[in-house]
Amino acid sequence: MSANKASLQTTVSDAVELDVARIRQDFPILQQELNGHRLAYLDSAASAQRPAAVIDAISQYYEHDHANVHRGVHTLSHRATDAYEGAREKVREFINAESIREIVFTRGTTEAINLVANALGEQLQAGDEVILTQLEHHSNIVPWQMLAERRGIELKVIPINSAGELVLDGLDDLFSDRTRLLTVSHVSNALGTINPVGELVAAARKRGVLTLLDGAQAIPHTAIDVRQLDCDFYAFSGHKMCGPTGIGVLYAREAVLAELPPWQGGGDMILTVSFSGTTYNELPYRFEAGTPNIAGAVGLGAAVDYLSAIGMARIAAHEHQLLEYATDRITGISGLQLVGTATHKTSVLSFNVDDIHPHDLGTILDHQGVAIRTGHHCAMPVMEHFGIAGTARASLALYNDRDDIDQLIDAIHRAVEMFR
Ligand code: PLP
Repeated sequence: MSANKASLQTTVSDAVELDVARIRQDFPILQQELNGHRLAYLDSAASAQRPAAVIDAISQYYEHDHANVHRGVHTLSHRATDAYEGAREKVREFINAESIREIVFTRGTTEAINLVANALGEQLQAGDEVILTQLEHHSNIVPWQMLAERRGIELKVIPINSAGELVLDGLDDLFSDRTRLLTVSHVSNALGTINPVGELVAAARKRGVLTLLDGAQAIPHTAIDVRQLDCDFYAFSGHKMCGPTGIGVLYAREAVLAELPPWQGGGDMILTVSFSGTTYNELPYRFEAGTPNIAGAVGLGAAVDYLSAIGMARIAAHEHQLLEYATDRITGISGLQLVGTATHKTSVLSFNVDDIHPHDLGTILDHQGVAIRTGHHCAMPVMEHFGIAGTARASLALYNDRDDIDQLIDAIHRAVEMFR
C-alpha cells in the first residue's frame, strides 16, 4: 500500500469526531440564505470558503503592518517581512518540508506547475520525456504541451479505467532512458480519485526520474508530508484550503531547486545587477520575482493555523464519513450515474442524471440553495474517456454536514421531477 493511502486510513480510524456545527460558525459566508434557502455550499473543489480568522488576518495586516517586504529599513517593512516570512515557516511546518528554502510562494498551483515546466524545461532536450496521466487538471497538461511545442519533448500518458483509477500495468513500458519527469495529481479534481502517488514516486525515483505532485485537491483533505511522499515538487493553492486566492506554493526539494535556472526576472530575485551581468538571490527568493502577494501569504498562514488547530486527521475522518453517507444516498437516486467510483476516493461526487444537462441541473439546484459545479472541471481528457461532455460535481470540505447532503439529494429529486 502506498504511503498516502496508508496515512489516509490511519487518520480515519484514529481521529476524534469533528464539531461541524461549531466549525460552520467560523465561516461568515455560510450564515446566509441563498435564493430563499439555507446555503449548502458543495463547490469547495473549485474554491473553498474562508473562516473569519483568515479574513481578519488579512484585514489586520492591511490595517496595521503593510509595506513592501525585504528591502525596507523602516518598522512597517520589517513587520511585513516578518509576516510574510512567518507564513513561509508555517507552510514549511504544515507540509513537513526540511527548510524554508524549499517553499516558493506562487499565485497558485497553476503558476507552481508553470514554474517547474519553464525552469526545468530549460534543461530538457528534444526527445526527453515527461510522463503524466489522463486524470490531470488542464493546468498539469497544457504547460507540458507548451513545452513540447517549444522544446520538442515527448509526453506519455498513464491511462485510466472505468472507475477513474490509474492503470499502472504498463507503467514500466512508459519509462525510458529519456524520461525526465513524472507528474501526477495527488487527488483528481474531476472524480476524487486518490492516486497511488507513493508507488509512482518510488517507481520514478528508482529510475532517477524527478516527480511533481499536483496537490491542489489533496492539501485541504489530508495531512501532507512531503518528506514521506518523497517527491521532488509538490504544488498547491491557498484558495482550496480556506486561504486567499492568488497565493499558492511550490515545494521543491532543495537539491533539485538549487540546480534550476530562474524563470521570471525582476526585483527581489537578484543580489546584484549591472549591464555586465546579474547575480541571482538565494533560495527561495530566486524564484519570487517582483513584489509578492504579501497579504495572500499572511492569509494562507492564517489558514494553515486554522486547519492545524482543528487537525488534518480529524478533517480527513469527517470528510471520509460524509463522502460515504453522500455516496450511499446519491446512488439511491434512480437514473443517476456516478462518474468516478475509485476504491480510494475523497471529497468529490461527480454525476449525471438521466438526460438532464449538467448545467440545467446546476441551475435548478442553485435555486434551492445548493451550490455545485457543472461542466468538464478543467479535465476534458477525463470527460473524453467517459464519453461525456461534463458532469455535475458536488465537493466536500470540513464545514459540510449531513444537512448539506440531504439538501443536495432533495434538490436532485426535485430536478428529476421537473424533467419528467
Ligand atoms: N490542479 C488541480 C487538481 C485542481 O483541482 C486545480 C484547480 O481546480 C488546479 C490544479 C489549478 O489550481 P489554481 O487554479 O488554483 O491554480
